[in-house]
Amino acid sequence: MEKTYDIVIVGAGPAGMTAAIYAIRANMKVLMLDRLSPGGQMINTNEVENYTGAGKLSGAELAIRMFEHTQELGVEFDYKTVIDITDGGPWKTITCEEGNTVYRARAVILATGTVPRRLGVPGEDTWAASGISWCAICDGAQYCGKEVVVIGGGNSAVEESIYLAGICTRLTIVTMFDLTADPKACDQLRKLPNVTIYPYQDVLEFTGTDRLTGVRFRSTREDATERYVTCDGVFEYIGFAASSQAFAKLGIIDRTGCIQTDSHMRTSVPGIFGAGDITVKHLRQIVTACSDGAVAANSAANYVESLR
Ligand SMILES: Cc1cc2nc3c(=O)[nH]c(=O)nc-3n(C[C@H](O)[C@H](O)[C@H](O)COP(=O)(O)OP(=O)(O)OC[C@H]3O[C@@H](n4cnc5c(N)ncnc54)[C@H](O)[C@@H]3O)c2cc1C
Repeated sequence: MEKTYDIVIVGAGPAGMTAAIYAIRANMKVLMLDRLSPGGQMINTNEVENYTGAGKLSGAELAIRMFEHTQELGVEFDYKTVIDITDGGPWKTITCEEGNTVYRARAVILATGTVPRRLGVPGEDTWAASGISWCAICDGAQYCGKEVVVIGGGNSAVEESIYLAGICTRLTIVTMFDLTADPKACDQLRKLPNVTIYPYQDVLEFTGTDRLTGVRFRSTREDATERYVTCDGVFEYIGFAASSQAFAKLGIIDRTGCIQTDSHMRTSVPGIFGAGDITVKHLRQIVTACSDGAVAANSAANYVESLR
C-alpha cells in the first residue's frame, strides 16, 4: 500500500512533535512516525525543570502533554521504524521496517535524535535514571551537597564537571584516557579543590542495593590497581550515537552521524529538513529541539507550497 503526504516527520520527540504542530497549523497533510511511544528521550527523564512555563514535571508527563497537543490538532501518528529514505526530487519515499506501507511525501523532517552511549557494565541498567544520568544541566541540581562521579574526559565531561563541582561536595572523574577536553577547561577543572581525577581506568561496576552507592574501577596501566569510590550519583559522558542510519545514503550527515542544517533547518537535499538533537548543534535540550521543530516545519511548509 502507498500513502502520500505533504510532510512526513520521522521521530516523535519534542522536535518531531513541535514540527507536527506547526506543520498541521500550516494546513499541511502530516504524518508523524516513531518506532517507540511518542516522547523520545523525555520519556526516560525523571524530572524536567527547565522547560519554559512548565514548572517541575516528569519527562513522561511532558511527553504526554505534547503528544495530546498533536492529537487535538489532528496529526496522524503511526508506530513505524524508518529504515530508508530516498530522494526522488519532488517526491521522497520513506520505507519502514514493518514493510506493509510505503510513504511518499513532498518534504521530510528528520527528528530522530541521539542516544547516549553506555558503558554496558553491571549495575548500569539498574541505576539508569535513578542515580546514573547523562545530563548534568538536567539532573545536576539533585546532587547539591552530595558526592558525584563523572565518567569520561572529553569536552562534555569536563565542562559538566566544572558545573557539578560547584554544587557537589566531592567530584571524582574516572576516564579511560587522560582528559582530552579543551586545555583551558582541563586546567580550570584540575585546580578545583574538591575534584579528583583518575585517568586510564576501566569502569567495572556500579554498586548499591536500595540506591546507587558507588563505582568500582581498575587501572588500565600495568599495576591494574582496583579502586572503589562512594557516591550519590554518576554522570556518564562517553559520547552519543546519532540515530541517522536510516538516511545515511542521502549524504547529509557529518562524521559524528549528525545532520548539517542551515538556520532554516534545511539540509543540502531540497525537501529534507532536520530538527532537534540529530542536527549539528551546541545545546541539546527539549526547548532547543522544539525550536528547531518549529523552524523546520515552517521551512518545510514553504517548500511544499513552492512545489504547488
Ligand atoms: C537522561 C536525560 C535527561 C534529560 N533531561 C533533560 C531536561 O531535564 N531538560 C531538557 O531540556 N533536556 C533534557 N534532556 C535532553 C532532551 O531530552 C533532548 O535534547 C530532547 O529529547 C531531544 O529531542 P529530539 O526530538 O531531537 O530527539 P529525541 O527526544 O531523541 O526523539 C527522537 C525520536 O526519534 C525516534 N526514532 C529514532 N530513530 C527512528 C527511526 N529510524 N524510525 C522511527 N523513529 C525513530 C526515537 O524513538 C525517538 O522517539 C535529557 C536527556 C537525557 C538523555
